[in-house]
Amino acid sequence: MARPTRARVDLAAIRHNYAHAKAQAPGARALAVVKADAYGHGAVAVARALAPVADAFAVACTEEALELREAGITKPIVLLEGVFEPSELAHLDSARLTPVAHNREQLDWLCRARPTRPFQVWLKMDTGMHRLGMEPADFAAAHARLADCSHVSEIVLMTHLACADEPEHPATRAQLACFTAHAGGLPGPRSIANSAAVLGCPAAHGDWLRPGIMLYGATPFGEAHPSAAALRPTMQLQSQLISVRALDPGEAIGYGGRYVCQAPTRVGVVAAGYADGYPRHAKDGTPAAVNGKPSRVIGRVSMDMLTVDLTDQPDARPGDPVQLWGDAVPANDVAAASDTIAYQLFTGLSRRVPVSYR
Ligand code: PLP
Repeated sequence: MARPTRARVDLAAIRHNYAHAKAQAPGARALAVVKADAYGHGAVAVARALAPVADAFAVACTEEALELREAGITKPIVLLEGVFEPSELAHLDSARLTPVAHNREQLDWLCRARPTRPFQVWLKMDTGMHRLGMEPADFAAAHARLADCSHVSEIVLMTHLACADEPEHPATRAQLACFTAHAGGLPGPRSIANSAAVLGCPAAHGDWLRPGIMLYGATPFGEAHPSAAALRPTMQLQSQLISVRALDPGEAIGYGGRYVCQAPTRVGVVAAGYADGYPRHAKDGTPAAVNGKPSRVIGRVSMDMLTVDLTDQPDARPGDPVQLWGDAVPANDVAAASDTIAYQLFTGLSRRVPVSYR
């Protein structure tokens, strides 16, 4: 394959980041969240790399879980959205999957199930995010229904935080207070913390952490945060210069002529664009690295190409390496300059970008 645009995933860095998550809360267990193809990193490869150390995995849905089972992953797998219809109950049994129950319908289905062996259920409370979860006032009754089922082996009590990425946000305190008020007296392990809460909110640690984005080396916070500093980047999106040209002041670059050169400018054309998953909304100045040195995107990103400023690199030539995000170019910085988040960069990596692992 000649097109030079490719992603490299560092599995050792993912293992390091998982260990960092667990180190925040000694004694707690941690679901490694590998939904959405492990945030674009390749769920099978990531789960295989983490399997020796991970306590369990989490995915969005049954299809994602079955992919891991077929790949030989034997650790518990939690379905974060539970089952979407009763026909999936057979898979819970045959593939030993662990459902979240977040609404009354799921509760009915799970209570009526007749599995060949008992399963654990993660019962979710809506403490204020208002997306998924039982009403707090209904939670104890839902818990009692599950506890009455002889085929439910254990009930994990969970909720999800809406604003943990803003450490001082009052909503987090309110959600934790709601959870304690309505789940406080019920038996069972607790699970509250996504990456932001793992790193920034010890009060939310509970018994089961649920780190996602931090496994993939990106900070969940908008600002620098001390406990995120030890995370290692896991994905490098790399390409090459395929053309270099010299432009005069007043000349414009790319579609719409958005960037107009103010001075003599050397422009590098990179073989990566939005069809590879690079954000089309990247602004002028979005960081990149050419030959390991800082550069910046100038001009509008097109489908297969983008353009960078090489004025400081008179020797740069076609064939020279370009890093679009990775260890030299934090994905968070590219995301911030593109009005998005690192989650979307990683999950948006397109199928035409070959991924290799080390
Ligand atoms: N827990 C639940 C219920 C989620 O939906 C997610 C992701 O959206 C996570 C944990 C992991 O979140 P993060 O990637 O922010 O760590």
